[in-house]
Amino acid sequence: MRLLHTMLRVADLDRALAFYVDTLGMTLFRREEYPTGGFTLAFVGILSALVQGGLVRRIIPLIGERRALLAGFGFAVETPPFDCIDWVESGADLAVDGVAFQVKVSAFTLGCEARAPLVVISTVAELEAADIAGKVVLLRGEIAQGQLMPKNFPFYNPDEHQHIIHLLETRRPQAIVAATARDPDMVGSGVYPFPLFEDGDFAVPSVYMTDEEGERLAGYAGREATLAIRAQRIPAAGCNVVARKGGSGQRRIVLFAHIDARLGTPGASDNASGTVVMLLLAELLTDYAGDLGIEIVAMNGEDYFSNPGEQQWLAHNAGRFGDILLGINVDDVGYRKGRVAYSLYDCPAEIDPVVREIFAGYPGLVEGPLWYQGDHSILLLNQAPAVALTSEELAELMAEITHTPRDTVDVVDPAKLVEVALALYNLLQRLSEDFGSRRTAPNSL
Ligand SMILES: [Zn+2]
Repeated sequence: MRLLHTMLRVADLDRALAFYVDTLGMTLFRREEYPTGGFTLAFVGILSALVQGGLVRRIIPLIGERRALLAGFGFAVETPPFDCIDWVESGADLAVDGVAFQVKVSAFTLGCEARAPLVVISTVAELEAADIAGKVVLLRGEIAQGQLMPKNFPFYNPDEHQHIIHLLETRRPQAIVAATARDPDMVGSGVYPFPLFEDGDFAVPSVYMTDEEGERLAGYAGREATLAIRAQRIPAAGCNVVARKGGSGQRRIVLFAHIDARLGTPGASDNASGTVVMLLLAELLTDYAGDLGIEIVAMNGEDYFSNPGEQQWLAHNAGRFGDILLGINVDDVGYRKGRVAYSLYDCPAEIDPVVREIFAGYPGLVEGPLWYQGDHSILLLNQAPAVALTSEELAELMAEITHTPRDTVDVVDPAKLVEVALALYNLLQRLSEDFGSRRTAPNSL
């Protein structure tokens, strides 16, 4: 069985299964009774759901919509909803003069049945000057060198990208064909060709192809192209899952692990790994009763084009960042190569040494470089101190595995996830002792 696994001994199996299966939405694979030994083994997994992929399971939380989430560990749980889209596709066909071209459907695109002359565009200046209304546009070369940010992506959005998107939407071509190579700046930089657009808000239907295929297609400029894209956007809803415990005092610790995976990827490292850490940590915190508030945020939509979960959490927390003693983000953690890397951001003098001291007690943890692509960035933007945990070999992971179909369970070492959960548990206990007025309850685990 290829599972990221850990073993828990529980006193009441039915109660534990009710939590893991009914509440968290995990799957019970097998149950073995050992009457002579007086015990039962139950094999439960969450990664199988992730491996199934698909947007519905991705954006509507794997761990269910029930408000009772994590209640089994004594957390109070909210599942604030947000609007999003579901998206389905079944391929595309492009032909010019009866010659067929290989294309891939851009994630989240609208469908179309286009028939129009082909216009070839290589630069922004050409795009500004060209008459593309009603045409099929091939974008290749300079203008298609790097992936364009989704138009409503809130955290990083260069003017040049916005300008290109605006030109395309206002000039109204029937459809776009993007010819691309590799984008070294993209997560999943080994992907060839890469999708120039991955944007469910973008109003022009699109497909993409290799730069080689684009060169062949460019020879047909001015000829009539037919492009059928079989894709559909479907209005849907998703939600974050926010679990709280403790906190009769003023301050709280916020822990993030995003629960969605990139469309079309299994998402074992990104971010089933972080999700597993949070579940282990939640169980370790079963008896926590400190004054320091603990808030576990299963963030939804981190790898979705418009980050609806982050936007919602930010809106809910507007004006309340001052009570965050520390924010902790766990993302892409436990890669089987290298150690777990932590990094500190704007931690005040009384927090910084505590984090380092606790983490120094775990040989699998090492301080790594700063990185700004994860959910801890939204804490930094709001002047809240943060710690991020990811993998030491993040560069390799991001280039070759993250956001690709290779992000499967075998890339993650489960022992590392357990170590991270224990390190975080000890950090929370220590912070609660130092900053809460009551001590945490002892925990037998
Ligand atoms: Zn991630």
